[in-house]
Amino acid sequence: MLSVLSMLSSFELFKIGLGPSSSHTTGPMKAALRFVQFLEVQGQGREVTTLDVCLYGSLGLTGGGHHTDRAILLGLSGQKPEVLEPASADVIITQISQTGTLMLGGNTKISFDSKTNIRFEGQTSLPFHTNAMRFSAFDAKGDLIASRIYYSVGGGFVVDEDEAGRNAPDAADVIPVHAFSNAQELLECADAAGLTIAQVMLENECVHRPRAEVLSGLDDIWGHMHACMEHGLAREGMLPGALRVRRRAPGLYTKLRVQNPDPKQSCERSDWVNLWAMAVNEENASGGRVVTAPTNGAAGVLPAVINYYLYFVPGATDAGVRTFLLTAAAIGGLYKRNASISGAEVGCQGEVGVACSMAAGALAAVLGGSNAQIENAAEIGMEHNLGMTCDPVGGLVQIPCIERNAFGATMAIQAARLALLGDGTHAISLDEVIKTMFETGRDMSTKYKETSQGGLAVNIVEC
Ligand code: SF4
Repeated sequence: MLSVLSMLSSFELFKIGLGPSSSHTTGPMKAALRFVQFLEVQGQGREVTTLDVCLYGSLGLTGGGHHTDRAILLGLSGQKPEVLEPASADVIITQISQTGTLMLGGNTKISFDSKTNIRFEGQTSLPFHTNAMRFSAFDAKGDLIASRIYYSVGGGFVVDEDEAGRNAPDAADVIPVHAFSNAQELLECADAAGLTIAQVMLENECVHRPRAEVLSGLDDIWGHMHACMEHGLAREGMLPGALRVRRRAPGLYTKLRVQNPDPKQSCERSDWVNLWAMAVNEENASGGRVVTAPTNGAAGVLPAVINYYLYFVPGATDAGVRTFLLTAAAIGGLYKRNASISGAEVGCQGEVGVACSMAAGALAAVLGGSNAQIENAAEIGMEHNLGMTCDPVGGLVQIPCIERNAFGATMAIQAARLALLGDGTHAISLDEVIKTMFETGRDMSTKYKETSQGGLAVNIVEC
Protein backbone atom coordinates (compact mmCIF):
# COMPACT_ATOMS: atom_id res chain seq x y z
CA MET A 1 0.00 0.00 0.00
CA LEU A 2 1.11 3.57 -0.61
CA SER A 3 2.20 5.81 2.25
CA VAL A 4 0.32 9.06 2.94
CA LEU A 5 3.30 11.05 1.66
CA SER A 6 3.20 9.43 -1.76
CA MET A 7 -0.03 10.25 -3.57
CA LEU A 8 -0.69 8.58 -6.87
CA SER A 9 -0.63 11.13 -9.69
CA SER A 10 -3.17 11.17 -12.53
CA PHE A 11 -0.18 10.77 -14.85
CA GLU A 12 0.86 7.53 -13.16
CA LEU A 13 -2.65 6.10 -13.27
CA PHE A 14 -3.39 7.15 -16.87
CA LYS A 15 -0.43 5.74 -18.80
CA ILE A 16 -0.07 5.66 -22.56
CA GLY A 17 0.99 2.26 -23.82
CA LEU A 18 0.27 -0.58 -26.22
CA GLY A 19 -2.53 -3.13 -25.99
CA PRO A 20 -3.81 -5.59 -25.15
CA SER A 21 -2.98 -5.60 -21.43
CA SER A 22 -1.44 -3.18 -18.97
CA SER A 23 -0.35 -5.95 -16.59
CA HIS A 24 0.62 -8.51 -19.23
CA THR A 25 1.93 -6.22 -22.01
CA THR A 26 2.84 -2.72 -20.79
CA GLY A 27 4.17 -3.95 -17.42
CA PRO A 28 6.41 -6.71 -18.84
CA MET A 29 7.74 -4.30 -21.49
CA LYS A 30 8.67 -1.84 -18.74
CA ALA A 31 10.17 -4.65 -16.65
CA ALA A 32 12.34 -5.81 -19.56
CA LEU A 33 13.50 -2.24 -20.15
CA ARG A 34 14.29 -1.88 -16.45
CA PHE A 35 16.43 -5.02 -16.59
CA VAL A 36 18.37 -3.59 -19.53
CA GLN A 37 18.86 -0.33 -17.61
CA PHE A 38 19.94 -2.35 -14.55
CA LEU A 39 22.61 -4.10 -16.65
CA GLU A 40 23.82 -0.77 -18.00
CA VAL A 41 24.06 0.76 -14.51
CA GLN A 42 26.05 -2.31 -13.40
CA GLY A 43 28.33 -1.87 -16.42
CA GLN A 44 27.35 -5.35 -17.68
CA GLY A 45 25.26 -4.46 -20.73
CA ARG A 46 28.05 -5.10 -23.27
CA GLU A 47 29.09 -8.44 -21.69
CA VAL A 48 25.68 -10.01 -22.39
CA THR A 49 25.51 -12.49 -25.25
CA THR A 50 22.12 -14.03 -24.48
CA LEU A 51 19.23 -13.86 -22.04
CA ASP A 52 16.58 -16.10 -20.53
CA VAL A 53 13.18 -14.88 -19.39
CA CYS A 54 10.77 -16.91 -17.22
CA LEU A 55 7.13 -15.88 -16.95
CA TYR A 56 5.37 -17.18 -13.86
CA GLY A 57 1.77 -17.45 -12.61
CA SER A 58 -0.83 -15.57 -14.61
CA LEU A 59 1.85 -14.25 -17.00
CA GLY A 60 2.87 -17.83 -17.72
CA LEU A 61 -0.72 -19.00 -18.22
CA THR A 62 -2.15 -16.17 -20.33
CA GLY A 63 0.98 -14.33 -21.50
CA GLY A 64 0.74 -15.92 -24.96
CA GLY A 65 -2.70 -14.43 -25.65
CA HIS A 66 -1.76 -11.15 -24.00
CA HIS A 67 1.38 -10.67 -26.19
CA THR A 68 3.67 -10.76 -23.15
CA ASP A 69 6.47 -12.34 -25.20
CA ARG A 70 6.29 -9.54 -27.78
CA ALA A 71 6.31 -6.96 -24.99
CA ILE A 72 9.43 -8.55 -23.47
CA LEU A 73 11.24 -8.41 -26.84
CA LEU A 74 10.34 -4.74 -27.26
CA GLY A 75 11.45 -3.81 -23.75
CA LEU A 76 14.74 -5.70 -24.14
CA SER A 77 15.24 -3.76 -27.39
CA GLY A 78 15.12 -0.53 -25.37
CA GLN A 79 11.61 0.51 -26.40
CA LYS A 80 9.29 2.49 -24.12
CA PRO A 81 5.53 1.74 -24.25
CA GLU A 82 4.53 5.41 -24.08
CA VAL A 83 6.32 6.36 -27.31
CA LEU A 84 6.53 3.21 -29.43
CA GLU A 85 4.16 3.17 -32.42
CA PRO A 86 2.34 -0.14 -33.02
CA ALA A 87 3.68 -0.31 -36.62
CA SER A 88 7.30 0.13 -35.40
CA ALA A 89 6.72 -2.64 -32.86
CA ASP A 90 5.79 -5.02 -35.69
CA VAL A 91 9.01 -4.17 -37.56
CA ILE A 92 11.19 -4.86 -34.49
CA ILE A 93 9.46 -8.16 -33.75
CA THR A 94 9.84 -9.32 -37.37
CA GLN A 95 13.56 -8.46 -37.39
CA ILE A 96 14.16 -10.44 -34.18
CA SER A 97 12.36 -13.51 -35.45
CA GLN A 98 14.07 -13.40 -38.88
CA THR A 99 17.62 -12.83 -37.60
CA GLY A 100 17.57 -14.70 -34.29
CA THR A 101 19.24 -11.66 -32.77
CA LEU A 102 18.07 -8.77 -30.67
CA MET A 103 19.66 -5.34 -30.13
CA LEU A 104 19.78 -5.22 -26.32
CA GLY A 105 18.91 -1.69 -25.24
CA GLY A 106 19.14 -0.73 -28.92
CA ASN A 107 22.95 -1.05 -29.00
CA THR A 108 24.29 -4.55 -28.17
CA LYS A 109 23.55 -7.44 -30.49
CA ILE A 110 22.73 -10.67 -28.65
CA SER A 111 21.38 -13.99 -29.85
CA PHE A 112 17.73 -14.47 -28.96
CA ASP A 113 15.10 -17.00 -29.96
CA SER A 114 11.81 -16.18 -28.27
CA LYS A 115 10.68 -19.82 -28.56
CA THR A 116 13.52 -21.04 -26.34
CA ASN A 117 14.68 -17.94 -24.48
CA ILE A 118 11.21 -17.06 -23.13
CA ARG A 119 9.64 -19.75 -20.97
CA PHE A 120 6.01 -19.79 -19.83
CA GLU A 121 5.95 -21.39 -16.39
CA GLY A 122 2.34 -20.82 -15.41
CA GLN A 123 2.26 -23.60 -12.82
CA THR A 124 4.87 -21.79 -10.72
CA SER A 125 3.88 -18.77 -8.65
CA LEU A 126 6.26 -16.46 -6.83
CA PRO A 127 5.10 -15.28 -3.41
CA PHE A 128 4.71 -11.49 -3.85
CA HIS A 129 2.42 -11.35 -6.90
CA THR A 130 1.18 -13.79 -9.53
CA ASN A 131 2.49 -11.66 -12.41
CA ALA A 132 6.19 -12.41 -11.89
CA MET A 133 9.12 -12.44 -14.35
CA ARG A 134 12.74 -13.49 -13.94
CA PHE A 135 15.36 -12.09 -16.32
CA SER A 136 18.76 -13.83 -16.47
CA ALA A 137 21.71 -12.55 -18.53
CA PHE A 138 24.65 -14.70 -19.67
CA ASP A 139 28.10 -13.88 -21.05
CA ALA A 140 29.98 -15.48 -23.95
CA LYS A 141 31.13 -18.39 -21.72
CA GLY A 142 27.52 -19.10 -20.78
CA ASP A 143 28.07 -17.90 -17.22
CA LEU A 144 25.23 -16.11 -15.45
CA ILE A 145 26.18 -12.47 -14.96
CA ALA A 146 22.93 -11.02 -13.61
CA SER A 147 19.42 -12.13 -12.63
CA ARG A 148 16.48 -10.01 -11.45
CA ILE A 149 12.82 -10.62 -10.62
CA TYR A 150 10.14 -8.09 -11.52
CA TYR A 151 6.42 -8.05 -10.77
CA SER A 152 3.75 -6.46 -12.96
CA VAL A 153 1.24 -5.50 -10.30
CA GLY A 154 -1.59 -4.13 -12.48
CA GLY A 155 -2.30 -1.01 -14.53
CA GLY A 156 1.24 -1.04 -16.00
CA PHE A 157 2.89 -0.59 -12.57
CA VAL A 158 6.09 -2.60 -12.06
CA VAL A 159 8.16 -3.32 -8.95
CA ASP A 160 11.45 -5.20 -8.73
CA GLU A 161 12.42 -7.76 -6.13
CA ASP A 162 13.80 -5.06 -3.80
CA GLU A 163 10.72 -2.86 -4.07
CA ALA A 164 8.19 -5.69 -3.63
CA GLY A 165 6.17 -5.08 -0.48
CA ARG A 166 7.75 -1.68 0.07
CA ASN A 167 5.51 1.42 0.10
CA ALA A 168 5.13 3.66 -2.93
CA PRO A 169 7.50 2.03 -5.41
CA ASP A 170 6.34 4.06 -8.39
CA ALA A 171 5.11 7.24 -6.75
CA ALA A 172 7.06 10.46 -6.60
CA ASP A 173 8.40 11.13 -3.11
CA VAL A 174 6.88 14.61 -2.82
CA ILE A 175 4.67 15.82 0.01
CA PRO A 176 1.19 16.58 -1.40
CA VAL A 177 -0.83 19.67 -0.48
CA HIS A 178 -3.71 17.43 0.55
CA ALA A 179 -2.69 14.07 2.02
CA PHE A 180 -5.35 11.36 2.19
CA SER A 181 -5.16 7.61 2.34
CA ASN A 182 -8.83 6.68 1.94
CA ALA A 183 -12.12 8.10 0.69
CA GLN A 184 -13.17 9.36 4.12
CA GLU A 185 -9.95 11.39 4.46
CA LEU A 186 -10.36 12.64 0.89
CA LEU A 187 -13.85 13.93 1.70
CA GLU A 188 -12.66 15.49 4.95
CA CYS A 189 -9.70 17.32 3.43
CA ALA A 190 -11.80 18.51 0.47
CA ASP A 191 -14.52 19.81 2.80
CA ALA A 192 -11.98 21.46 5.14
CA ALA A 193 -10.40 23.28 2.20
CA GLY A 194 -13.74 24.07 0.55
CA LEU A 195 -12.64 22.27 -2.62
CA THR A 196 -14.09 19.71 -4.98
CA ILE A 197 -12.35 16.34 -5.29
CA ALA A 198 -10.98 17.43 -8.68
CA GLN A 199 -9.57 20.63 -7.16
CA VAL A 200 -7.87 18.60 -4.41
CA MET A 201 -6.25 16.43 -7.08
CA LEU A 202 -5.27 19.47 -9.16
CA GLU A 203 -3.52 21.13 -6.20
CA ASN A 204 -1.67 17.89 -5.51
CA GLU A 205 -0.66 17.55 -9.18
CA CYS A 206 0.71 21.11 -9.12
CA VAL A 207 3.29 20.03 -6.53
CA HIS A 208 4.89 17.89 -9.25
CA ARG A 209 4.63 20.23 -12.25
CA PRO A 210 3.37 23.73 -13.22
CA ARG A 211 -0.40 24.12 -13.46
CA ALA A 212 -0.30 24.80 -17.22
CA GLU A 213 1.64 21.55 -17.70
CA VAL A 214 -0.89 19.62 -15.61
CA LEU A 215 -3.79 20.97 -17.65
CA SER A 216 -2.11 20.33 -20.99
CA GLY A 217 -1.12 16.86 -19.77
CA LEU A 218 -4.75 16.08 -18.96
CA ASP A 219 -5.77 17.33 -22.41
CA ASP A 220 -3.10 15.06 -23.87
CA ILE A 221 -4.50 12.04 -22.00
CA TRP A 222 -7.97 12.73 -23.37
CA GLY A 223 -6.45 13.31 -26.83
CA HIS A 224 -4.88 9.83 -26.75
CA MET A 225 -8.10 8.26 -25.44
CA HIS A 226 -10.08 9.94 -28.20
CA ALA A 227 -7.60 8.97 -30.91
CA CYS A 228 -7.78 5.34 -29.75
CA MET A 229 -11.57 5.46 -30.01
CA GLU A 230 -11.42 6.98 -33.50
CA HIS A 231 -9.03 4.25 -34.68
CA GLY A 232 -11.35 1.61 -33.25
CA LEU A 233 -14.35 3.12 -35.07
CA ALA A 234 -12.50 3.09 -38.39
CA ARG A 235 -10.60 -0.22 -38.48
CA GLU A 236 -12.39 -3.18 -39.98
CA GLY A 237 -11.31 -6.80 -39.96
CA MET A 238 -10.42 -9.55 -37.56
CA LEU A 239 -8.75 -9.20 -34.19
CA PRO A 240 -5.52 -11.18 -33.72
CA GLY A 241 -5.64 -14.66 -32.22
CA ALA A 242 -7.23 -18.05 -32.68
CA LEU A 243 -10.73 -16.93 -31.65
CA ARG A 244 -11.17 -15.16 -35.00
CA VAL A 245 -13.21 -12.37 -33.42
CA ARG A 246 -14.39 -9.80 -35.95
CA ARG A 247 -14.17 -6.11 -35.04
CA ARG A 248 -17.75 -4.95 -34.52
CA ALA A 249 -17.31 -1.23 -33.85
CA PRO A 250 -16.97 -0.01 -37.48
CA GLY A 251 -20.15 -1.86 -38.57
CA LEU A 252 -22.10 -0.65 -35.54
CA TYR A 253 -20.88 2.88 -36.21
CA THR A 254 -22.19 2.74 -39.76
CA LYS A 255 -25.51 1.34 -38.58
CA LEU A 256 -26.00 4.01 -35.91
CA ARG A 257 -25.12 6.80 -38.32
CA VAL A 258 -27.69 5.52 -40.82
CA GLN A 259 -30.32 5.63 -38.07
CA ASN A 260 -29.19 9.07 -36.93
CA PRO A 261 -25.98 10.78 -38.08
CA ASP A 262 -25.84 13.01 -35.00
CA PRO A 263 -25.51 11.12 -31.70
CA LYS A 264 -27.01 14.16 -29.95
CA GLN A 265 -30.30 13.57 -31.74
CA SER A 266 -30.38 9.86 -31.00
CA CYS A 267 -33.01 8.40 -28.66
CA GLU A 268 -30.78 5.42 -27.88
CA ARG A 269 -27.83 7.01 -26.16
CA SER A 270 -26.70 3.70 -24.69
CA ASP A 271 -26.09 2.38 -28.23
CA TRP A 272 -23.50 5.10 -28.71
CA VAL A 273 -21.93 4.51 -25.29
CA ASN A 274 -21.65 0.78 -26.07
CA LEU A 275 -20.07 1.62 -29.43
CA TRP A 276 -17.47 4.03 -28.01
CA ALA A 277 -16.39 1.59 -25.31
CA MET A 278 -16.13 -1.33 -27.73
CA ALA A 279 -14.16 0.74 -30.25
CA VAL A 280 -11.48 1.42 -27.63
CA ASN A 281 -11.29 -2.17 -26.49
CA GLU A 282 -11.13 -3.59 -30.01
CA GLU A 283 -8.22 -1.26 -30.64
CA ASN A 284 -6.66 -2.48 -27.38
CA ALA A 285 -7.20 -6.12 -28.37
CA SER A 286 -5.35 -5.48 -31.64
CA GLY A 287 -2.26 -4.15 -29.84
CA GLY A 288 -3.05 -0.51 -30.60
CA ARG A 289 -2.12 2.59 -28.60
CA VAL A 290 -4.23 2.79 -25.45
CA VAL A 291 -4.45 4.79 -22.22
CA THR A 292 -4.64 2.66 -19.06
CA ALA A 293 -7.80 3.67 -17.20
CA PRO A 294 -6.98 2.11 -14.79
CA THR A 295 -5.87 -0.84 -16.97
CA ASN A 296 -5.78 -1.63 -20.68
CA GLY A 297 -8.44 -4.34 -20.38
CA ALA A 298 -10.77 -1.74 -18.85
CA ALA A 299 -9.60 1.14 -21.04
CA GLY A 300 -12.93 1.67 -22.84
CA VAL A 301 -15.10 2.66 -19.88
CA LEU A 302 -13.78 6.15 -19.16
CA PRO A 303 -13.51 7.36 -22.80
CA ALA A 304 -17.07 6.16 -23.50
CA VAL A 305 -18.44 8.01 -20.46
CA ILE A 306 -16.43 11.13 -21.33
CA ASN A 307 -17.97 11.03 -24.81
CA TYR A 308 -21.40 10.60 -23.18
CA TYR A 309 -20.67 13.79 -21.23
CA LEU A 310 -19.45 15.69 -24.31
CA TYR A 311 -22.33 14.63 -26.56
CA PHE A 312 -25.29 14.42 -24.21
CA VAL A 313 -24.73 16.87 -21.37
CA PRO A 314 -25.61 20.45 -22.35
CA GLY A 315 -22.79 22.90 -21.65
CA ALA A 316 -20.06 20.22 -21.58
CA THR A 317 -16.58 21.76 -21.86
CA ASP A 318 -12.90 20.83 -22.14
CA ALA A 319 -12.52 22.02 -18.54
CA GLY A 320 -15.22 19.50 -17.64
CA VAL A 321 -13.15 16.72 -19.21
CA ARG A 322 -10.19 17.73 -17.01
CA THR A 323 -12.48 17.66 -13.95
CA PHE A 324 -13.66 14.22 -15.04
CA LEU A 325 -10.11 12.87 -15.34
CA LEU A 326 -8.91 14.37 -12.05
CA THR A 327 -11.92 13.00 -10.15
CA ALA A 328 -11.53 9.59 -11.78
CA ALA A 329 -7.83 9.54 -10.90
CA ALA A 330 -8.58 10.38 -7.25
CA ILE A 331 -10.99 7.42 -7.07
CA GLY A 332 -8.71 5.05 -9.02
CA GLY A 333 -5.83 5.96 -6.72
CA LEU A 334 -7.87 4.83 -3.71
CA TYR A 335 -8.32 1.37 -5.26
CA LYS A 336 -4.63 1.17 -6.19
CA ARG A 337 -3.61 2.25 -2.68
CA ASN A 338 -6.04 0.19 -0.60
CA ALA A 339 -6.92 -2.80 -2.80
CA SER A 340 -5.76 -3.77 -6.28
CA ILE A 341 -6.34 -2.92 -9.94
CA SER A 342 -4.93 -6.25 -11.13
CA GLY A 343 -7.28 -8.81 -12.68
CA ALA A 344 -4.71 -11.47 -11.81
CA GLU A 345 -4.98 -10.50 -8.16
CA VAL A 346 -8.70 -9.71 -7.65
CA GLY A 347 -10.51 -10.61 -10.88
CA CYS A 348 -12.29 -8.25 -13.26
CA GLN A 349 -13.92 -6.36 -10.39
CA GLY A 350 -10.44 -4.77 -10.04
CA GLU A 351 -10.35 -3.74 -13.70
CA VAL A 352 -13.75 -3.05 -15.29
CA GLY A 353 -15.27 -2.75 -11.79
CA VAL A 354 -12.77 -0.06 -10.79
CA ALA A 355 -13.13 1.71 -14.15
CA CYS A 356 -16.91 1.76 -13.62
CA SER A 357 -16.48 3.21 -10.14
CA MET A 358 -14.03 5.87 -11.39
CA ALA A 359 -16.29 6.85 -14.30
CA ALA A 360 -19.40 6.95 -12.10
CA GLY A 361 -17.80 9.32 -9.60
CA ALA A 362 -16.27 11.44 -12.35
CA LEU A 363 -19.56 11.75 -14.25
CA ALA A 364 -21.34 12.73 -11.03
CA ALA A 365 -18.69 15.46 -10.62
CA VAL A 366 -19.18 16.98 -14.07
CA LEU A 367 -22.96 16.76 -13.68
CA GLY A 368 -22.64 19.07 -10.67
CA GLY A 369 -22.68 16.50 -7.86
CA SER A 370 -21.37 17.33 -4.39
CA ASN A 371 -18.30 15.51 -3.06
CA ALA A 372 -20.65 13.24 -1.08
CA GLN A 373 -22.64 12.41 -4.22
CA ILE A 374 -19.41 11.70 -6.12
CA GLU A 375 -18.32 9.29 -3.38
CA ASN A 376 -21.77 7.71 -3.47
CA ALA A 377 -21.65 7.26 -7.26
CA ALA A 378 -18.20 5.65 -7.06
CA GLU A 379 -19.46 3.30 -4.37
CA ILE A 380 -22.51 2.27 -6.43
CA GLY A 381 -20.25 1.77 -9.45
CA MET A 382 -18.27 -0.88 -7.58
CA GLU A 383 -21.01 -2.38 -5.40
CA HIS A 384 -22.68 -4.08 -8.36
CA ASN A 385 -19.44 -5.33 -9.85
CA LEU A 386 -18.35 -7.16 -6.68
CA GLY A 387 -17.33 -10.73 -7.40
CA MET A 388 -16.82 -10.20 -11.13
CA THR A 389 -14.32 -12.77 -12.35
CA CYS A 390 -11.60 -12.56 -14.97
CA ASP A 391 -11.89 -15.47 -17.42
CA PRO A 392 -10.59 -14.29 -20.81
CA VAL A 393 -11.27 -16.90 -23.47
CA GLY A 394 -8.09 -18.21 -25.09
CA GLY A 395 -6.06 -15.86 -22.88
CA LEU A 396 -7.05 -13.05 -25.25
CA VAL A 397 -8.36 -9.69 -24.03
CA GLN A 398 -11.45 -10.02 -26.26
CA ILE A 399 -14.21 -12.19 -24.77
CA PRO A 400 -15.68 -11.11 -22.38
CA CYS A 401 -13.50 -8.00 -22.13
CA ILE A 402 -14.74 -5.93 -25.09
CA GLU A 403 -18.46 -6.11 -24.32
CA ARG A 404 -17.74 -5.90 -20.62
CA ASN A 405 -16.36 -2.41 -21.11
CA ALA A 406 -19.62 -1.39 -22.76
CA PHE A 407 -21.54 -2.65 -19.75
CA GLY A 408 -19.09 -0.96 -17.38
CA ALA A 409 -19.69 2.36 -19.12
CA THR A 410 -23.49 2.16 -19.16
CA MET A 411 -23.49 0.99 -15.55
CA ALA A 412 -21.29 3.96 -14.58
CA ILE A 413 -23.83 6.35 -16.11
CA GLN A 414 -26.66 4.69 -14.16
CA ALA A 415 -24.61 4.82 -10.95
CA ALA A 416 -23.93 8.55 -11.39
CA ARG A 417 -27.57 9.31 -12.13
CA LEU A 418 -28.75 7.27 -9.15
CA ALA A 419 -26.34 9.04 -6.82
CA LEU A 420 -27.43 12.45 -8.10
CA LEU A 421 -31.05 11.65 -7.22
CA GLY A 422 -29.97 11.39 -3.57
CA ASP A 423 -28.22 13.81 -1.24
CA GLY A 424 -25.01 11.84 -0.84
CA THR A 425 -26.01 9.95 2.30
CA HIS A 426 -25.91 6.18 1.88
CA ALA A 427 -25.44 2.97 3.83
CA ILE A 428 -22.19 1.57 2.40
CA SER A 429 -19.18 3.86 2.11
CA LEU A 430 -16.70 3.83 -0.77
CA ASP A 431 -14.00 2.72 1.68
CA GLU A 432 -16.14 -0.22 2.76
CA VAL A 433 -16.81 -1.32 -0.80
CA ILE A 434 -13.10 -1.02 -1.71
CA LYS A 435 -12.22 -3.21 1.29
CA THR A 436 -14.95 -5.68 0.30
CA MET A 437 -13.69 -5.84 -3.28
CA PHE A 438 -10.16 -6.63 -2.10
CA GLU A 439 -11.32 -9.33 0.32
CA THR A 440 -13.62 -10.84 -2.33
CA GLY A 441 -10.69 -10.92 -4.73
CA ARG A 442 -8.49 -12.66 -2.21
CA ASP A 443 -11.20 -15.28 -1.58
CA MET A 444 -11.76 -15.83 -5.31
CA SER A 445 -10.39 -19.06 -6.77
CA THR A 446 -7.24 -18.62 -8.85
CA LYS A 447 -9.22 -20.13 -11.74
CA TYR A 448 -11.05 -16.81 -12.06
CA LYS A 449 -8.07 -14.49 -11.83
CA GLU A 450 -6.64 -14.08 -15.34
CA THR A 451 -5.49 -17.68 -15.68
CA SER A 452 -8.04 -18.77 -18.32
CA GLN A 453 -8.59 -21.94 -16.27
CA GLY A 454 -12.24 -21.34 -15.36
CA GLY A 455 -15.50 -19.64 -16.35
CA LEU A 456 -16.05 -18.70 -20.00
CA ALA A 457 -12.46 -19.59 -20.80
CA VAL A 458 -13.17 -23.32 -20.37
CA ASN A 459 -16.75 -23.38 -21.66
CA ILE A 460 -16.23 -21.95 -25.13
CA VAL A 461 -15.11 -24.22 -27.93
CA GLU A 462 -12.36 -22.54 -29.94
CA CYS A 463 -12.73 -22.93 -33.71
S1 SF4 B 1 -12.02 -10.27 -18.05
FE1 SF4 B 1 -11.69 -8.19 -17.22
S2 SF4 B 1 -9.83 -8.33 -15.95
FE2 SF4 B 1 -9.90 -10.15 -17.27
S3 SF4 B 1 -8.63 -9.65 -19.08
FE3 SF4 B 1 -10.80 -9.14 -19.56
S4 SF4 B 1 -11.04 -6.98 -18.98
FE4 SF4 B 1 -9.14 -7.69 -18.00
